[in-house]
Amino acid sequence: MSWMKALENYARTAPEELPKDILLSSTEHTVTVKDAYPKAMYHYLVLPRLPSSLVSSSSRISSLQSLLSGDKEDALRVVKILGDDAELAKSHILEEMRKKHGFEWDVNIGFHAVPSMDHLHTHVISSDLISPALKNKKHYNSFHPTLGFFLHLNDVLEWLTEEKLAGKLHINSAKYEGLLKTDLACFKCDEPFKQIPRLKEHLEDEWKKEKRTAVKQKAMKRVHGTDDGEAQRPAKKTKLASTDETPRTPNKLSEANKAESLA
Ligand code: AMP
Repeated sequence: MSWMKALENYARTAPEELPKDILLSSTEHTVTVKDAYPKAMYHYLVLPRLPSSLVSSSSRISSLQSLLSGDKEDALRVVKILGDDAELAKSHILEEMRKKHGFEWDVNIGFHAVPSMDHLHTHVISSDLISPALKNKKHYNSFHPTLGFFLHLNDVLEWLTEEKLAGKLHINSAKYEGLLKTDLACFKCDEPFKQIPRLKEHLEDEWKKEKRTAVKQKAMKRVHGTDDGEAQRPAKKTKLASTDETPRTPNKLSEANKAESLA
């Protein structure tokens, strides 16, 4: 089997037959697995299961590009279902963050504009981008939350629901691939970096800073009697339940990128 087919293979396998250390959860329509080469502390992939009753042909869900170039109602249905199940994975991640680190940070949900693996998949990835598997500029830029290559699922939903986008949507691969060559810069503070090892050290420092601030804020709230209880909140019984308490996913795709996607 070609390595590019690994995700498609998961989608075709009955969830109960997938290895326990790979599977997070499954529903009638989707399966959520651990990314085998995580590019952040928490990284899952939500895949539509195959065969799928969500679309008229399996080729429609071979990629975001094929989905968007097909029937718009089908595309909307698939993206909404992936989004719902990605929110469940996000809730699970937030719970793990609270348990292990005592605070929550952003989790991004979206697609790579030009994927490397066959079969549609949504990334659910913590925003730290701290991982030994994140090794080069392409890896980093592909998950940079505002560069444009990472298409936030909420933005894709917006494209599909905007009246004026009644025609077919098209992803211009060459333009998006160009974004991967963008010079390295921290997605939080914009500081430029020449080499990935230095940027990785910086990202760790940024995360530690975020943790210190969150812990301090919690302590302040306790002192002033306005503790929001995040650290002490008991683990949710329904560990995959969606919640409004979680930080919002950034929805920062620029108008320019939106226009490009239609080019
Ligand atoms: P994309 O660039 O959107 O196609 O990303 C594909 C993702 O699949 C990457 O984050 C890889 O780390 C991940 N991946 C590659 N091979 C496997 C595998 N066998 N099992 C799980 N995840 C994988």
